[in-house]
Amino acid sequence: MADFDLAIIGGGINGAGIARDAAGRGLRVLLVEQGDLASGTSSASTKLIHGGLRYLEHGAFLLVREALKEREVLLRNAPHIIRPLRFLLPPQPEMRSPLLVRIGLFIYDHLGGRRILPPTQTVDLTHNPLGVPLKRSYRSGFLYSDCRVDDARLVILNALDAAERGASIRTRTKCVRAERSEEWCLILNARGKRQVITARALVNAAGPWVGVVSETVIRMPGPPRVRLVKGSHIVVKKLFDHDSGYIFQNPDRRVVFALPYERDYTLIGTTDENFQGDPAGVGPSGAEIAYLCNTATRYFRQPVAPADIVHAFAGVRSLYDDGSKRPEDVTRDYHLAFDKSYGNAPLLSVYGGKITTYRRLAEAAMKKLSDVFTPSRPWTARVPLPGGDFPYNGVEAQIAQALRKWPFLEEAHAGRLVRAYGTRIGDVLGDADSYAALGTRFGADLTEAEVRYLMTKEFAVDADDVLWRRSKLGLRFADMERAALQRFMSPLPALKLVT
Ligand code: FAD
Repeated sequence: MADFDLAIIGGGINGAGIARDAAGRGLRVLLVEQGDLASGTSSASTKLIHGGLRYLEHGAFLLVREALKEREVLLRNAPHIIRPLRFLLPPQPEMRSPLLVRIGLFIYDHLGGRRILPPTQTVDLTHNPLGVPLKRSYRSGFLYSDCRVDDARLVILNALDAAERGASIRTRTKCVRAERSEEWCLILNARGKRQVITARALVNAAGPWVGVVSETVIRMPGPPRVRLVKGSHIVVKKLFDHDSGYIFQNPDRRVVFALPYERDYTLIGTTDENFQGDPAGVGPSGAEIAYLCNTATRYFRQPVAPADIVHAFAGVRSLYDDGSKRPEDVTRDYHLAFDKSYGNAPLLSVYGGKITTYRRLAEAAMKKLSDVFTPSRPWTARVPLPGGDFPYNGVEAQIAQALRKWPFLEEAHAGRLVRAYGTRIGDVLGDADSYAALGTRFGADLTEAEVRYLMTKEFAVDADDVLWRRSKLGLRFADMERAALQRFMSPLPALKLVT
């Protein structure tokens, strides 16, 4: 018998989502990730759970509908890491007719079974806090709804739930070869150690590496139909004091978001550029940074310059190549290529997709695999992710409860912990009755108790796993603080015996 029913290459949102879904259906699942969970594209997104307003222009109604419907499903299942967000869209008649934009927003409001999120309204910016940071020429705007998410934590919570349902999640484990016969034989490199495992079916969810894995690891004949498109973001000190976001139109017809980020910052993105090369080394180019600064400066009173940037990041989408000329026109819909020829173990390759539709993608993947495994019913729509078992509008109540239980906590700290761990906050804080009981404070509000929780439960191995993926505390950490955290997390070197 094979070691596993299903092996998955890639610990991004798609791999982790499929692992959770499959493990919950009783399959024996292995997920291998060459780096940390969410170390690829899934921590470099705009962090929106959205229908994708601009995809309506491309006539992608089915994609937008599926994504819009998914917003509230995910909000109910993970109310700690997902929250509603209002977006202000200032009309730009020379770029798009305001009437057309209003019609688009009407469709957006009604296409996806919206129950929780408020509908679009027109606002007078001359008497509204949303108008304050904008240039005076913007006198009105449309305010519509979507959601935002901690993208990397969404991946980690899916992997955690998969593990709690029996899946084996192995980070720092690269699949270097996949030999195909009646079952798959995978050669793994786990931090320099060679491992061999067998599985009945294989999923290639390697995101921007899907083509590399197909060509060099699985050695499939023929080139993969994949198009790589890079997108960058910049983070600056906050440009506004309220909790809504902005969507700005650009003369090139693209849109750029400016979003409230991590309490004290504004996130601005994204760009769209064709990409070639190794996605591991990807970073924002000078031209992308200039483009984002110029867009923000076109709308905000306070100019944004490269010197204002406190952090910047880039990610690569692996899109299914539909032959479009411009990168922003390539379909954002996912494509699942299922290959099951006679006598060969099945292979499912994942192209494209969005953070927003990962759960539906996982359901579709399981449907494709239902030929191989006993068919089972979808289950993830109604089961909360770890820590998300409270009402979608209950975050404030959770914070108040935490402050009653751990009265020594600063309010902002309690807020951060509830928004990260939800009802599992108790697993982090235990019965601590003072800050001292939480151990060393490494920097910002990160304590030893939290780091230990992340290392034992959430697969964290080094400082960046904690500072950039399980949290975004990297924004607030000095180099020396990061180094001290790294020393704490590094295993003690083996003692050398002198003979
Ligand atoms: P990844 O997250 O890249 O995961 C693939 C993983 O496979 C990687 O972690 C990699 O290390 C691993 N891997 C590769 N090769 C191997 C190997 N041989 N062995 C083991 N592991 C391997 N979507 C939204 O819904 N909302 C948004 O706001 C949004 N904004 C975006 C903005 C940008 C700039 C970009 C680029 C994308 C955005 N997306 C958004 C899309 C979304 O981020 C991606 O669709 C999603 O993250 C892809 O996830 P994935 O799991 O396929 O890939």
